[in-house]
Amino acid sequence: MTYFASRTDNLFTQLRTDGLWKELQTIQGPMDAEITLIRNGKPQKVLCFCSNNYLGLANHPEVVEAGTKALRDYGAGTASVRFICGTFSPHWELERTIARYMGTQASYSFVSAWTANEAVFPTLCEPGDIIISDELNHACIIDSIRLATTIKKGIHKAVYRNNVLEGEKSLRAALQAARENKDVTGQIWVVTDGVFSMEGSIADLPAMRKLCDEYNAMLVVDDSHGHGVMGALGRGTHEHWGLIDGGTSSGRIDIFTGTLGKALGGGAGGFVAASQQVIDLLIQRGRPTLFSNALPVTIAASAQKAIEITMREPQRVQRLKDNVKYAREKLKAGGFDVLPSPTAICPIIVHDTAKAIAMSKRLLDLGIFVIGFGYPVVAEGHARLRCQISAAHTTQHIDALVGALKKL
Ligand SMILES: *Cc1c(COP(=O)(O)O)cnc(C)c1O
Repeated sequence: MTYFASRTDNLFTQLRTDGLWKELQTIQGPMDAEITLIRNGKPQKVLCFCSNNYLGLANHPEVVEAGTKALRDYGAGTASVRFICGTFSPHWELERTIARYMGTQASYSFVSAWTANEAVFPTLCEPGDIIISDELNHACIIDSIRLATTIKKGIHKAVYRNNVLEGEKSLRAALQAARENKDVTGQIWVVTDGVFSMEGSIADLPAMRKLCDEYNAMLVVDDSHGHGVMGALGRGTHEHWGLIDGGTSSGRIDIFTGTLGKALGGGAGGFVAASQQVIDLLIQRGRPTLFSNALPVTIAASAQKAIEITMREPQRVQRLKDNVKYAREKLKAGGFDVLPSPTAICPIIVHDTAKAIAMSKRLLDLGIFVIGFGYPVVAEGHARLRCQISAAHTTQHIDALVGALKKL
């Protein structure tokens, strides 16, 4: 046996003993409020409360048709990166639509939000810059910062307590330390999730903007769980906070990153939306854009359609909000501890990771699909069941969720 094989066997044994082994569920048919799982070789109908299909667009007939048509019109792809011969007109159309939706000058698409974030800091930062990050930021932001500081020596980094803007270990403290640091001679960057994916809490973007202005910092917001969800038109957490100038421009946020794999179609893909200058720099210098293929055209077309539908039918976003309000009230009335928040993420804290996983297994037997998250996705001792609400749910679905939780 190789050293690797025995080391990995040991890890797997440990995970199984600790009850931390993850089983991947298989779904038959499209994502929706009600789905069919294949469990022990047999189909089982369950209610899905763990997808990011917030607007119920993953299987919308127009979204499916747009993707199918693009596949017929353009084939599978270009077999090239964008700057050689890899750009189809649906890519530009999608990027214009994203920019319009976000209220930015321009946008650029990527195969995932992970890749979009990974492109941002290594490309835009230079030695002498500092990147200041919320401690609960998504893994891809953390990795993007690690990559930037590794490949360009002299890029600095700092972390502040989740959503703490003033006082000890706060964003202000980090900004002040950056100002006083003689080695920080370049740009200060501040980066945050718009909606924190495990908490369902949101970043205080107006206060962060003020702080960034005070320290001449660029503000980067990854709003993967906010796009399609937050604000009256679902444009994101900035819309929720009223940070949209004159109703059309999001000039108060310097750079957005986001996913097309959640509310906005649910297929795959990510984007950066920002000034033309930022987008041009990513096109000229970004390694994921220079050395990796474009978003498949079928996905570009279905994502474009999903955003069009979201803009055309704000009642979908409203329906999601109504469902979220209903679910939170019901959960609270059922005696569950849920944070008050306008997001579609309702975590129920159960502390112990093995317990969270066992509870989600039991819920599945009851026909409710909710995932238990524990270490290392969340901090040790903070394991939780994360319930995610969708516009596709009915009040009966939500009642069934709360009923099953009560049975545990
Ligand atoms: C889901 C998520 C991502 C990853 O999105 P993909 O498009 O699946 O790569 C990135 N950032 C945040 C904040 C997310 O919630």
